[in-house]
Amino acid sequence: MPLYDTRSPLPEALPEAAREADVVVLGGGVVGVCTALYLTERGASVTLIERAGLAAGASYGNAGWIFPSHAVPLPGPGVTRQALRWLLDPDSPLYIQPTLRPAMLRWLWRFWRACDLEQAKRGFALHRELSLASRGCYEALAARDDLSMDFGYTREGLLLAFESGEGLREIEGELTWLEELGGEAKRLGRDALRELEPMLTPEIAGGVAFSSDAHVEPGPFVHQVGQGAAELGASICCHTEVLGLRATPTAATVETNRGVFRGKQLVLAAGAWNAPLSGQLGAPLPIEAAKGYSVSVERPAAFGPRPVMLAEARVGVTPMGDTLRFAGTLELAGLDLRVNPRRVAAIRRAAARCLPGAADAAHLETWRGLRPLTPDDLPILGRMSRHPAVLVAGGHGMHGLSQGPISGQLIAALASGEPPALDLAPFSPARFDA
Ligand SMILES: Cc1cc2nc3c(=O)[nH]c(=O)nc-3n(C[C@H](O)[C@H](O)[C@H](O)COP(=O)(O)OP(=O)(O)OC[C@H]3O[C@@H](n4cnc5c(N)ncnc54)[C@H](O)[C@@H]3O)c2cc1C
Repeated sequence: MPLYDTRSPLPEALPEAAREADVVVLGGGVVGVCTALYLTERGASVTLIERAGLAAGASYGNAGWIFPSHAVPLPGPGVTRQALRWLLDPDSPLYIQPTLRPAMLRWLWRFWRACDLEQAKRGFALHRELSLASRGCYEALAARDDLSMDFGYTREGLLLAFESGEGLREIEGELTWLEELGGEAKRLGRDALRELEPMLTPEIAGGVAFSSDAHVEPGPFVHQVGQGAAELGASICCHTEVLGLRATPTAATVETNRGVFRGKQLVLAAGAWNAPLSGQLGAPLPIEAAKGYSVSVERPAAFGPRPVMLAEARVGVTPMGDTLRFAGTLELAGLDLRVNPRRVAAIRRAAARCLPGAADAAHLETWRGLRPLTPDDLPILGRMSRHPAVLVAGGHGMHGLSQGPISGQLIAALASGEPPALDLAPFSPARFDA
């Protein structure tokens, strides 16, 4: 099947065959395209519906990390205190828009209740398991001859760089329990850190090296997986916007701006927009949009092969071919894609401070995207209790690129009646039913 990705001069007519499918997948981000690929390989007829182009949402300009090493969930001990400090600083990496929206207040209450050490440890173990399995999926996809993909998969680990000794001391407690749970972390003094990334300022205090992490170029990955799914037979319908959803116990109907689609099963993989879409089915999921920004520049020749996290500023720096990408900030402000220049400037300032040699690199692109964040920062993977024909694949927050491929595998198995390779109970949508 071709990949229907043209609007010009008039939208191309969609084939009638695409309108009745075994499975209709909503959303052309990393989760949606991986789900479509793995379902198609299992012999299902698949239609993927995307309102813009592939990777139009959060899956394009993110930091590209697959990071099992320190996949610590956002809610944790001390997070509320730190968040309150940040909220008073307009240049900080966190912003929560004041609101009385009931869904947001409920979400914040659930988030606050998840802020304890035991839940953080459990969350880390679950994230780590998903991300390690997903790294395996990336390696398998990169090695496939039939799809001949090249999305810059690089496994060089990742560095955490601290500007202050206080930051280094504060991370120690976390590193201890990460190691207890199977993670590995190598403490580095300033010189050892700068040996691994010489562009870091001599003012840097020190850091940590994680060896199990990898990175990719996220946009090309999503496009190539979508193309691969289309080559294997999926109908990928871009520029097709979902306007309404209905479900019975054995089927789902999707109304779009380009007509009606029906599936024996439906997968909600629309990132932050899974919240309003699930609302249309009368079962809204607690997913909030957590906006982040990235700034891409021409990669200075001296920058090394591995990403660096500028720990205090919460800015991730990733080498991607000829590009160097700085990504960060988290704004809880609803489904709002406006760019706040102040946050972008804060990312650039942190970059200039910690990597002074990159400060003058030619600017290529400023981008923003909405992370789909659940209050316990765990993804939602499974069938909706009220709608057995509807599966949810989303809510990955900061980990969607890491965990997109394994999420696609797990959902494809579930939809095909196979036992999923990992226990899905902790990720069930039913945990939010109460
Ligand atoms: C700055 C930043 C840095 C990040 N860095 C990393 C990282 O290093 N590693 C990592 O693991 N994660 C990272 N993330 C998180 C990651 O990008 C997301 O978790 C992931 O992209 C979510 O993928 P998704 O497929 O669920 O959603 P999306 O990529 O947002 O895809 C959803 C799609 O649904 C479509 N859609 C929405 N509504 C409709 C509708 N009504 N009809 C049809 N289509 C619709 C949208 O157009 C969109 O294309 C980062 C995010 C940000 C913002």
